[in-house]
Formats: sequence, structure tokens, C-alpha cells
Amino acid sequence: LPQVIIIGRPNVGKSTLFNRLVGKRLALVDDQPGVTRDRRFGEAHLLGLDFTIVDTAGWEDEDEASLPGRMRQQTEAALQGADVALFVIDARAGLTPLDEEIARYLHQSTVPVVLVANKAEGKAGDHGLFESYALGFGDPVPLSAEHGQGMADLFEALLPHLDDKQPEFEPFETDEDGEEHDLSAPLKLAIVGRPNAGKSTLINAMLREDRLLTGPEAGITRDSIAVDWTWTDPASGEQRPVRLIDTAGMRKKAQVTDKLEKLAVADARHAIDFAEVVVLLLDATRGLEHQDLKIASMVLEEGRALIIAINKWDVAENASGLYNGVRAALDEGLAQVRGLPLLAVSARTGKGLDDLIKAAFDLRAAWSKRVPTSALNRWFDDALAKNPPPAPGGKRIKLRYITQAKTRPPGFVLFGTRLDELPTSYQRYLVNGIRRELGFDAVPVRLTLRTAK
Ligand code: GDP
Repeated sequence: LPQVIIIGRPNVGKSTLFNRLVGKRLALVDDQPGVTRDRRFGEAHLLGLDFTIVDTAGWEDEDEASLPGRMRQQTEAALQGADVALFVIDARAGLTPLDEEIARYLHQSTVPVVLVANKAEGKAGDHGLFESYALGFGDPVPLSAEHGQGMADLFEALLPHLDDKQPEFEPFETDEDGEEHDLSAPLKLAIVGRPNAGKSTLINAMLREDRLLTGPEAGITRDSIAVDWTWTDPASGEQRPVRLIDTAGMRKKAQVTDKLEKLAVADARHAIDFAEVVVLLLDATRGLEHQDLKIASMVLEEGRALIIAINKWDVAENASGLYNGVRAALDEGLAQVRGLPLLAVSARTGKGLDDLIKAAFDLRAAWSKRVPTSALNRWFDDALAKNPPPAPGGKRIKLRYITQAKTRPPGFVLFGTRLDELPTSYQRYLVNGIRRELGFDAVPVRLTLRTAK
């Protein structure tokens, strides 16, 4: 990871900024006595930028008289190996001789400097903010580390320095809860669908043994909830673990038929809690029904990866007409995610089952992946050039950066001005571009707008 070092005189808010950037990952900070006494290291994550942050505050509580000398020593040591220095001043207090001293030796260093005017919430910091231009580091970034304001501006100031030093795609990904996910871990897969679509038969066929009950009457009682098994990829011979969630098995008792319709939705809701990838099973003899669309949009709203499979293909009439009809109905009913994977399977004959599982693994990988900020913004510049954002009232909306802030599902943050005026059609243009051109096809993608000051 690239290294960013926080420099500044005592009390300007270095540690507050450090804690803000590290967040709940604070536990990773190494405070072994003697080793990092005078510097703290943390893993920072700022709107899709990852870096190591170094706080130099540790030596401050010692003797006042020798402060400038020791500060210089510490700072010089810390600057070794740093990619960027965040030079923090207190916008409320204004510049002090010590700030000017630090500025002098930062100018002698080759490390790029981003000037941060902290405590700038409200108007109280304006004076220090204007004064700080005199330090010769260009535009200061007004910030309130305490209140978390100005982080988008900080991101923008850091991006040019850290962009090409970002880690490339890794198989380990972190979701919004900071939990790590391993793509070699079992694929959490759920099969949902209306009663009688053939869910149990499909699960049995996948497991190739009669571990679950199936029968001609809908809603038969089952107890199994999750089944762990290993799928062998017939193409490569590779063995991959799967945890299959049998939602119908969560149902305690067989119910009367009209209630079963509602139960299909309830089952799907449970499945969503467990699964990474959800397969919505349709019945070829019935096509796509209203209930199916309802389940599909619920899965997508919850940000899960979704595959549609048409079962009972062995008895399908007018197969290609059926397929195209379902495809069209899906694209119309779920316009936000055109091009969902649509597969034809037969639980009875086993046709299409390996393709289905393969598609589920591929989809999980796309759903978990992170695009490096540099690649993302190369695509972004190109997308804006091809189709510039509109100019309501004759003034063009300015879009500045985009960053991937999370995975599982992928979430992107767009920075710019007057974003409240950005038409949804333009947002859709960007989301479609992300999905089609950056390898997120068929994955629900979220876009958040963040107006930068
Ligand atoms: P569930 O309620 O979704 O779990 O559905 P079941 O697995 O109990 O299957 C309902 C009925 O559809 C049973 O009679 C199955 O034998 C039948 N069925 C399931 N899959 C297929 C298939 O691929 N082809 C045909 N022809 N029938 C199937």
C-alpha cells in the first residue's frame, strides 16, 4: 500500500484525522512499546483509495523547549518512504511560527505535500484557510476531521498522488462491514421460486442423491437447511465447494396452496439473508409470472447476485419462443438490470446444471470484485467524452471522479457539482457503462452521488 504521513505541530488534530481515516480498522494499529512509540500506523480507506496512514503525534508530550528540533528529526525520519505528506494546520488558530518552520523543511523534501486546514467547520476557519496559501503548497483542503467534513475534497487531493499505487484486484475482498471474503470459500447459493417450480428436484439433481424429499404435491415438509457439497467443474476437473441453501426446507409444515404463493416470497427473503448468489427457478410450463418478478426485484434490491433458470426444459413447448419471451419480460420488468443471466435447465435430465453452477461462481466473482480507481477513471473520462453530462440552464454539470467504495454488491461514488440536477437517464448511462465495460454484467450496481464543494 502507498504510505501517507500526517505532519503538523501539536494540537492541530492529527490524531483525530488519523482515527477518522482508519475508522474501525483502528485495531490494526501496532502500538507495541518501543517499536512504534513515536509513530502510529493504520490502514486507511477513503472512498475507494487504500493506503497506510502514519501519525507522527506520539512524541509531542515531551519537553516544550526542544520541540522544533525533535519535530524536524521525527518528520524527516517519517518522510522516508512516504508517498504523500498531509500537512495539517489549525484553520481556527491561524498560522504559527512552528507551521512556517515545518513548511520550510517540507519544501526541501521531495515528498509531495497536501495542505490540510483542519477545524474548518462553520466559518471560524476561514481566516486560517486564506492565510495558509502563504505556505506555498497551493489550495488548502478545508476539513473537519472531528465532524468528518471535507473528506471528498481530501480524496480528490490525494487521488493524483495515490492513483497508480493502488493495489490491483485481489481475491480477498472486504464488504461494507469490513468482513473479509475469500473466493475459495464455499459459494453460498440459494434456489428460490414458486411452489412446484422444481427446486427440490434441482437440489437433488445437483447433489446426485436423494437427500431431500420431492413429490408431486407442492410444499412437502423438509428439514434440511444448508447442504455442503463439492462441485466438480466438468471442463477443468477443478473441485469447488458449494453451500446450498434449501429454503423450502426452512418451512415447518405443508400449507394450503394459496398460502404457498406467499411462502415462496417469504422463503426467498430468508434465502437472501444467507446467499451470495440466488437462483430464481421458473417453470417452463408456466413461464414468467408476476410473483417471479416480485421475487427477482427483491433479490436485486437486497444487492444479491441473481440468476434466472427456466426449469423443466425437457417438457418445454416452443423452446425458443419461450426463452425469448422470458428474456423480454425480464428486461422490461427489471429495467435496472438488463441482461440478467437466463439459463435453461432440466432438473429431471440434468441438462444445464453444470452451466448453472459455473454461472453462479462467475457471478459471485464479478459481484465481489473491485476495479482500481485508475482504471475506473480512465473509463469514466472516456464515458464523459463520448456523452457529456447535460447543461441545465446553460451551465454544464461537472462530474469529477468516480470511485468504487464497496463490493458485494459493487457500490460506486460519483463526485461532482450540482449533482442534484443530474438526470436519472444520465446516471443510468453511467451505471450501464460500468456494468457492460468494466465486467459487472448482470450484477446489481449502485451509484451514490456526492457533491464536492
Ligand atoms: P419445489 O416445490 O419447487 O421444490 O418443486 P419440486 O422439486 O417438488 O417439483 C415439483 C414437480 O415438478 C415434481 O413433480 C417434479 O418431479 C417436477 N419437476 C421438477 N423438475 C423437473 C424437470 O426438470 N422436468 C420435468 N418434466 N419435471 C420436473
